Amino acid sequence: MTGAGRFAPSPSGDLHIGNLRTALLAWLFARKSGRDFLLRIDDLDDRTSSEVAQRQIDDLTAIGLDFDGKPVVQSERREIYDAVIERLTAAGRTFECFCTRKEILSAPRAPHSPPGAYPGTCRDLTADEVHERRGLGRPPAIRLRSDVTQFTIRDDLCGEFTGVVDDFVLRRGDGVAAYNLAVVVDDADSDIDQVVRADDLLSSTPRQAYLAQVLDRPIPSYAHVPLVLNTFGTRLAKRDGAVTLASLASIGVSADRVRAQLAGSLGLGDGSETPDSATLLARFDPARIPAGPWILDPVDLL
Ligand code: GLU
Repeated sequence: MTGAGRFAPSPSGDLHIGNLRTALLAWLFARKSGRDFLLRIDDLDDRTSSEVAQRQIDDLTAIGLDFDGKPVVQSERREIYDAVIERLTAAGRTFECFCTRKEILSAPRAPHSPPGAYPGTCRDLTADEVHERRGLGRPPAIRLRSDVTQFTIRDDLCGEFTGVVDDFVLRRGDGVAAYNLAVVVDDADSDIDQVVRADDLLSSTPRQAYLAQVLDRPIPSYAHVPLVLNTFGTRLAKRDGAVTLASLASIGVSADRVRAQLAGSLGLGDGSETPDSATLLARFDPARIPAGPWILDPVDLL
């Protein structure tokens, strides 16, 4: 088995140059190591659409990335997530949680409980208490009954990272599988053994690796790549100007030019030429990725 890497955008808006840079890195990591490269559409959220997903695919293709097989679409896999949750429930590894967000935030917590961790309110409800709360009509979320409070992962770029693992949500009250569950199940089902994504997701990774272990699925290798920041030092966003391929094209900046800029930001070109993706792959050395975020002034793209 060759294994696979992947890019998994949420189709809630067009990809901007920061997302494209992460996709390029994921593709370079996968192809350099002889892996397949898969695309997954993370469309469980209602703010997503298939038109946006198609534009994302077109943009990834325009900067020279190719994918193996058909994209995996999360909204087509709801029954698979439910079956995994049922299995965990049958093994006593879940509980129903009736808390509102406000209740979670205001609940008393143990002195050393990490900020943001679930305080355990519904973990040990009696059968009568569960019955009574079900009767109130608000559908419960399903949480994992974790038996650790933290978990350590190894990241190829960030080194060892230990993060909080609480009784995190597997299925939301509205019946939709939670990101942390879907991502683990999908990666395992697609034989993805290399996860390259932006480092804003590093803090969720210990939960995901722990869940993979609970499900008896292999933990992939991880590389969390630095985000692209604007000149104010905050995460690049669409309001920063022409940062999507469509908006850049409208002011005369081609996809080839964008790829050349991305190459420059990764030390794979000097910005004066427009190397194709095969050339970037030949030049790519995972050990030499610039550390730290790329600060982008969109004016430099012109
Ligand atoms: N769909 C997630 C996002 O766009 C990324 C999932 C992942 O790479 O694990 O933030």
